[in-house]
Amino acid sequence: MTVIRAYELFVTFVVIKGKGVALALHAIERIYQRLYEFFGAQRWWPGETVEEIIIGAVLTQNTNWENVERAIDNLKEAHALSLKKIATLSAEKLSALIRPSGYFNVKEKRLRAVAEYFVRRCNGDPSRLKGIPTCRLRKELLGVYGVGRETADSILLYALGRRIFVVDAYTMRMGRRHGLLSEKDDYEDARRVFESSLKKSVRLYNEYHALIVRLGKEYCKPHSHCDGCPLNAPEFYIHG
Ligand code: SF4
Repeated sequence: MTVIRAYELFVTFVVIKGKGVALALHAIERIYQRLYEFFGAQRWWPGETVEEIIIGAVLTQNTNWENVERAIDNLKEAHALSLKKIATLSAEKLSALIRPSGYFNVKEKRLRAVAEYFVRRCNGDPSRLKGIPTCRLRKELLGVYGVGRETADSILLYALGRRIFVVDAYTMRMGRRHGLLSEKDDYEDARRVFESSLKKSVRLYNEYHALIVRLGKEYCKPHSHCDGCPLNAPEFYIHG
């Protein structure tokens, strides 16, 4: 081990021990650079309009994106891919349209609640929310039926362009396996670790989360596929 490498590991150890972020910062930045270099730009979120992104963020709960696309196609064909329109559809009609996304009876209620929130808040036009502070919108979204942190933050980051890091199961898994997060860390802890370790940039948060999802789908699965994984090297781990 070189002197520089030994010093780097020492610093990492000291900072993490102190619940600090400096060491994690280094690893978190390196991980991003490696993922971007390996996978390239992910160009999220796959949606043509802000409203489509909001709708997709609700429909993607507990299902894969292909199923969401089928539900969105149905909404498009029915000329119902808008928050205002969704808020007026009958439960039967909306359930039938979003059926491919799974759990459609639950999602019908959640999607309607989100649509009604935006209609109430900004007449269904999210561009009118520009002057509202992110923390206020986040609190409001978390009060909407069926909206958890990941969905709220996905809407804030990808639809509304707010600077908030989205955490999901893939983030927690990779973060814990690489020593960036402890077993006790929860969603908010993870969000703080990433946000305080990175340059404050919507574009960076957007790309980083998308890259982690790609990593989780292809390599960092419940049974990890470390062979060939771009992060399978000591410099991407906090604990050797
Ligand atoms: S698959 Fe292995 S090397 Fe890749 S991110 Fe997961 S734990 Fe790390």
